[in-house]
Amino acid sequence: MVERNKPMTKEISPTFCPYPWVHLHAWPEGKAMLCCIAHGGENGGEVGDFSKNSYAEIMNSDKMKQVRLDMIAGKRLPQCYPCYQHEDLGVESYRQRVIKHYDDHLEKLLDITLEDGTITKVYMTHMDYRFSNLCNLGCKTCGSPLSSTIANSVADQNEINYLRERGVLSERETITSFIFKRPEFMEVDVYPYINENLRSFYFAGGEPLIMPEHSMILDYLIETKQFDKQICYSTNLTTLKWKGKDFLEIWKNFSKILWICSIDGIHDKLQYIRRGSKHDTVFANLDKLIEMKENNPDKNYRVSICYTHSIYNAYDTGEFVRYLDENGYVDKLDEFILNYAYSDINSVAILPDYAKKELKEKRHADMQTPWMKRFFDKFPGTEHSFKQVDAVIDTEINPDMIYHFKRFQERGSYDKFNSALPWLSSVINGLEKNDKVY
Ligand code: SF4
Repeated sequence: MVERNKPMTKEISPTFCPYPWVHLHAWPEGKAMLCCIAHGGENGGEVGDFSKNSYAEIMNSDKMKQVRLDMIAGKRLPQCYPCYQHEDLGVESYRQRVIKHYDDHLEKLLDITLEDGTITKVYMTHMDYRFSNLCNLGCKTCGSPLSSTIANSVADQNEINYLRERGVLSERETITSFIFKRPEFMEVDVYPYINENLRSFYFAGGEPLIMPEHSMILDYLIETKQFDKQICYSTNLTTLKWKGKDFLEIWKNFSKILWICSIDGIHDKLQYIRRGSKHDTVFANLDKLIEMKENNPDKNYRVSICYTHSIYNAYDTGEFVRYLDENGYVDKLDEFILNYAYSDINSVAILPDYAKKELKEKRHADMQTPWMKRFFDKFPGTEHSFKQVDAVIDTEINPDMIYHFKRFQERGSYDKFNSALPWLSSVINGLEKNDKVY
């Protein structure tokens, strides 16, 4: 029998984070992670497997016990390097934000922790399961693990064999989901945790609005009259209705919703980067969300855009902001997130030197425009994120990345590429000058 922990220090360590006590994040093939950004270390931050084990089993696995003991002892965990990276740069990390959010709760976490790291009460405060890779788009900055459209167009036989062996592929082998292996998942790992302890949901994908599990959870919340949970979405905004469900109507039941709309450009550029989307539909849906928010001032509804900087759109961020400004969105949006494409192959760091110089000059000129200044005033955090792109441009990368930039030479022959991304197309033409290319 494990001894109950003697008073563990109530001072939290510099690496302490509440999540390993109250949360796990799942990827479609079943990988369990400490949170949605904890992808450092072995196997992209894996701490368990939802295709084999339940939330309660993973939470008290040897791995999770050690994670908690290491955090209490102030050790840095490989999974959490994204947070440490921010902290080392003096930028507020996700960990620090979570601590603020759980300020009233920290002692309780230590109270339920035994000396070997076991927790005596397994509960959840934040639910963020990526139920499947079901998605109606094939975005350039995404991949097959999170998009069934990409997975089906790539049809990588090794990947298919691997997923089939794990038992996480649908019968027609078009969708990846750990729920195929654990059909009891909703009953075991979802509904029992939707109670007074659970504060928030994060629905992302794939595209969450077309996932049946998302609809089932909303139905359950309505049935059990739990209308005050914080609900947050990352959506591509291509649809607000699915299989007879009108989400604009359903959402009226809930009092706290944040919609994070993934929009990385306008017109041809948006349609190229987010393959399968339509500019007019996306912005019409954005208007509907804004209207819903404005018509319900008594509710805590917030509408935001998440713009992912990548090699495809970094030159045109100024034009994007101008469009938002001229169409009234800068005033109407509640938040704006400037993100960077995760993988190196979509990063501006792989551009040739002459293009990096051009890009920096363009971006510095953009910063002086009145629309950009108004944008920075409205969303103060964005100025820092925008400037940080210079550091991303200068990131040292492996010289083998030359291959990844050269992939654009092939695409340069397609009309859509040239018309949607004229600057990148011009960079490819400049390659003949034999400039240094990474
Ligand atoms: S420390 Fe950061 S990366 Fe690790 S679990 Fe907490 S929020 Fe996630």
